[in-house]
Amino acid sequence: MTGHTYDSVVVGGGPAGATVATELARSGRSVLLLDRGGRIKPCGGAIPPRLIRDFAIPDDVIVGRAVAARMVAPSQRAVDMPVGGFVGMVDREVFDEWLRNRAAEAGAERRTGNFERLDRDPDGCAVVVYVDERGGIEQRIRARAVVGADGARSGVARAALKGAEQTPFVFAYHEVIRTPKTDDAGFDRSRADVYYQAELSPDFYAWVFPHGDTASVGVGSASKGFGLRESVARLRFRTGLAGCETIRSEGAPIPLRPLRKWDNGRDVVVTGDAAGVVAPASGEGIYYAMTAARYTASAVEDFLVSGNPKALAGARKRFMRANGTTFWILSVMQHFWYHNDRRRERFVTMCADRDVQLLTWQAYMNKRLVMAHPLAYFRIFLKDMYHLLQSRG
Ligand SMILES: Cc1cc2nc3c(=O)[nH]c(=O)nc-3n(C[C@H](O)[C@H](O)[C@H](O)COP(=O)(O)OP(=O)(O)OC[C@H]3O[C@@H](n4cnc5c(N)ncnc54)[C@H](O)[C@@H]3O)c2cc1C
Repeated sequence: MTGHTYDSVVVGGGPAGATVATELARSGRSVLLLDRGGRIKPCGGAIPPRLIRDFAIPDDVIVGRAVAARMVAPSQRAVDMPVGGFVGMVDREVFDEWLRNRAAEAGAERRTGNFERLDRDPDGCAVVVYVDERGGIEQRIRARAVVGADGARSGVARAALKGAEQTPFVFAYHEVIRTPKTDDAGFDRSRADVYYQAELSPDFYAWVFPHGDTASVGVGSASKGFGLRESVARLRFRTGLAGCETIRSEGAPIPLRPLRKWDNGRDVVVTGDAAGVVAPASGEGIYYAMTAARYTASAVEDFLVSGNPKALAGARKRFMRANGTTFWILSVMQHFWYHNDRRRERFVTMCADRDVQLLTWQAYMNKRLVMAHPLAYFRIFLKDMYHLLQSRG
């Protein structure tokens, strides 16, 4: 039993971990942020303006701005949805490092190493055991509270929480390519393209997102035998992007259901992808990871002040109160509209509707429904019912 005891050790320095570390350090807590480093998170990098506002993301971290989304149906019919603002695009190599640096500026100590396991000192204090980047020497750090922000398939969640390994996943794969020199019919650097076609994904969608000098071409699917690489190759061929230089090819799982419990009732809590907080249907995870991280930091702070482990449960409770309904609606949408190509065709048809566009963008951009146009909601309800009845089967 040796060494300093940190108020909190945060395992994982992605958007969730860096945000928890920043918030706790700003509250004057001693925080150690552990990240294994050396790997760029595979990600489309699309973020809504609400995130940019809430988390004060500076302009120079945003590498692309999509002012429209193109929804492409199985029949190849395309519907353009003007954003009325922009969807921000970030490169995770730069974005995550910027967030980790902000945590360090707030006072968090950064270390690079690979989390190995959770242990206990004889006095009962939690110990994070990791292998450092240099010689594979095991290091032990004592913490009053451990935060697992180590992403999908979190080692901390598996070590501390029952059932964490049963989270369902969508597997996502993308290729980062050099942007073509001229915009042609298949690519527009100010537009995000989303493909709803069983051939490209039997249960999710495929995308082309513009990132300035590069673009992300990717696909997600929970179907085990589905060839994600072949699907991306098909999409690149069809969109005229097959000849562009491939800079990186990478994939990762996306969790699709929040864990039932985020804490061990003692001194460990998980957040972000480690807690399963990615929106169904869209796969949007960065905003939710950072939002969950704020609730987590505040729950950890409550725990550190009161010494009451029950305070840790506040992270999940507050997150689900704010976002549970949205997740439920998106999950129903995913199961219904992504079921077969007939329904996907209807779904894209619906996207041509001005009321649907208004509601979609309000919900995505600002994470809230503005009741400025109550009649529009009634019209959407009627249209929704019409499309639902037309699409059964
Ligand atoms: C292909 C793909 C495309 C996506 N596109 C989008 C998109 O366009 N928009 C969007 O909002 N979301 C997208 N997502 C989801 C989004 O990437 C995640 O939801 C988000 O990154 C979650 O943040 P996080 O901090 O919880 O986890 P992560 O970003 O996964 O960060 C986890 C961190 O933990 C570290 N770590 C892991 N294991 C260890 C260990 N053993 N020891 C030490 N450190 C460790 C990692 O190095 C990493 O830095 C996409 C995901 C994928 C896979």
